[in-house]
Amino acid sequence: MISLKTDKQLNTEAIQLREKWSLNSNGASDITSVVLSKLPNLTLFYIPFSQNTSGMCIKEGNIEIIGINSTMAKGRQRFTISHELYHLLIEENVGKPIICNKHYRDTSEKEADKFASYFLMSDEGLNQYCYMNKIDEWNLDNIISVEQYFQISHQSLLIRLLNNRLISKKEYKEYKENIFPMKREFEDMVMSYIDPPLKKTNI
Ligand SMILES: [Zn+2]
Repeated sequence: MISLKTDKQLNTEAIQLREKWSLNSNGASDITSVVLSKLPNLTLFYIPFSQNTSGMCIKEGNIEIIGINSTMAKGRQRFTISHELYHLLIEENVGKPIICNKHYRDTSEKEADKFASYFLMSDEGLNQYCYMNKIDEWNLDNIISVEQYFQISHQSLLIRLLNNRLISKKEYKEYKENIFPMKREFEDMVMSYIDPPLKKTNI
């Protein structure tokens, strides 16, 4: 069985790609613009896949394609782009399409998820944000602020905070469930996570 890379290795690979692309290793990036400007052969497709499939990618010769499930929230779509970058650039998968389905989670899928989380928000970047904004304990307000700043999904931030032992399992469950009751108060913010299904588009 192939062993999972350590979190540190995946964080380093994510930082190295950010440095290669001259992105601030601690800051936030507009991932969609970044990949389209850094990978001139890449085509991004937005397709209403089933809820089990977050995205897919294929690389063959000069052709690079990433397909994103357009029915998922925007934060999740950005996460999927970063996840697919792992398959395309770090694993250098060539020739066979990779379909990312939540029911088939092998080592590669788990590594791609962790890489995506670190690529969008390095540990150093999270620490720096907390220091600058004087966050020493977590609540729904500052969780949403971090999501907005790094443009990552509610779920991926909570998993990261849990993995880094910054919140407990109990808090993780509470925050995971509590995003929806906050909808009226934070409607603009929440609506950026909940998109209606889109028709297939090619940008
Ligand atoms: Zn994948």
